[in-house]
Amino acid sequence: MPEPDDLPYDVVVIGAGVVGCAVARLLSHQHLRVALLDAAPDVGSGTSKANTAILHTGFDATPGSLESRLVSRGYELLSDYAPTVGIAIERTGAALVAWDDEQAAALPGLAAKAGANGYHAASVVDAATVYELEPHLGTGVAAGMLVPDEHIIDPWGTPLAFAREALANGVSWLPNRHVTKLERQFDTTVIESSDGATVRTRCVVNAAGLHSDEVHALFGLAGFTIRPRRGELIVFDKLARPLLQRTLLPVPTGHTKGVLVAPTVFGNVMLGPTADDIDDRTATGSTRAGIDALLAKGRRILPALIREEVTAVYAGLRAATEHSDYQITHDREFRYVCLGGIRSTGLTASMAIAEEALALVAACGLEVIPKAAGSIRSTQVTNLGEAFERPYQVGASGDIVCHCERVTHDEIVAACTEQPPATTFDGIRRRTRALAGRCQGFYCSAAVCSIAAESSGRPMSDWMGAP
Ligand SMILES: Cc1cc2nc3c(=O)[nH]c(=O)nc-3n(C[C@H](O)[C@H](O)[C@H](O)COP(=O)(O)OP(=O)(O)OC[C@H]3O[C@@H](n4cnc5c(N)ncnc54)[C@H](O)[C@@H]3O)c2cc1C
Repeated sequence: MPEPDDLPYDVVVIGAGVVGCAVARLLSHQHLRVALLDAAPDVGSGTSKANTAILHTGFDATPGSLESRLVSRGYELLSDYAPTVGIAIERTGAALVAWDDEQAAALPGLAAKAGANGYHAASVVDAATVYELEPHLGTGVAAGMLVPDEHIIDPWGTPLAFAREALANGVSWLPNRHVTKLERQFDTTVIESSDGATVRTRCVVNAAGLHSDEVHALFGLAGFTIRPRRGELIVFDKLARPLLQRTLLPVPTGHTKGVLVAPTVFGNVMLGPTADDIDDRTATGSTRAGIDALLAKGRRILPALIREEVTAVYAGLRAATEHSDYQITHDREFRYVCLGGIRSTGLTASMAIAEEALALVAACGLEVIPKAAGSIRSTQVTNLGEAFERPYQVGASGDIVCHCERVTHDEIVAACTEQPPATTFDGIRRRTRALAGRCQGFYCSAAVCSIAAESSGRPMSDWMGAP
């Protein structure tokens, strides 16, 4: 039975990145009327689609910070949740590599810091041990620190799984709504978007990522400003995968975690990210200088990697602020929860941030009553991990359409029809891996386009123009 249009939502979540989707999922487990809203046509299409996809233990966080607490709690929650819904996780572990005596001298301090963050499995090892574990490393390793629980995860399936479960449990999905105005009217907020549409709610959760400070300012509030920190990355061909067993991390600096080499759950190898503070919140293009800097670093870390073919390059923008910690606050008078400045660990921390948000929604005065456990619907996403069984291997899912990534006809139909549906090529890519392989869609995009048009009922021209 649809709710009447003029009835306010209890909570509207602005921003459907991994954080907003995690919040919507947890809110959907309560007796609340909830909407998830985004300026984009799809979930997970901001920073959440362009990260390094490490499930962080939080070993190098600032002890005592909110980020430290939420990363370590989020790690536990997401590690448990992912396998139950089909999000691929590979338990690879990581090795932090010191390249000179000064970096080697910092390792015991980093192990102690890990302990202060509640992570006690890190161990400092000598250079011979590091080479034994990772024989393709370049010359000059001075020592290492093993972090056996630092894993890799599917960054695309994670927000999708959260959103799918939220929608299955009654959350309304409102895409293409760029919020431009928040107006308090009695005990509700009217949210206006650039198309003139309005929606009324008792409580607002701001999960607007790179624009979280702008949404904050729509309430007349201040306290933090986003200054994007761009991270560029290079994705190498799957033939490079045997070159490493685990993620190879640098010794972090105060500014950044540094450039790493990591396997991906999709079977590739990734080199990056850079860390450049920029002003433009839309500058997600790759740069010559960034790629050159990565290749120079990669040549030192894993020389053989640089001889492998590059599949793609991309860049993501971290929502960095003038503060070193997350900016999570609430305002009881406005019934408003701000989840701002979630910069470089938000994928890992997302489910813990959602717990925090739920507590703050209650602190804003909303009555939060959990639904009976048996009444909550669970949902699945397709496991896209190269180390897992894929639909084409079980044979019942139609012809292969994308031969690079071995994606079948039925997977593309499902991507365009299951809630929330893909509405662009990028959305199909993130749900299936189609178009993300060696040829980047050169051979299969016409077929993908035709299947997408047929299954969605939208003309081919709609899909051809989309990124
Ligand atoms: C290079 C890089 C590497 C990273 N590596 C890791 C990693 O290995 N592990 C890890 O845990 N984290 C990592 N992160 C961090 C992680 O990706 C982010 O913390 C996380 O994706 C932030 O999610 P979010 O939902 O807050 O933001 P987003 O994903 O950006 O979502 C915000 C959403 O809000 C919407 N929005 C904004 N303004 C409005 C508006 N006015 N109206 C309506 N909608 C609006 C946007 O369209 C967007 O969809 C990395 C980040 C980068 C950039």
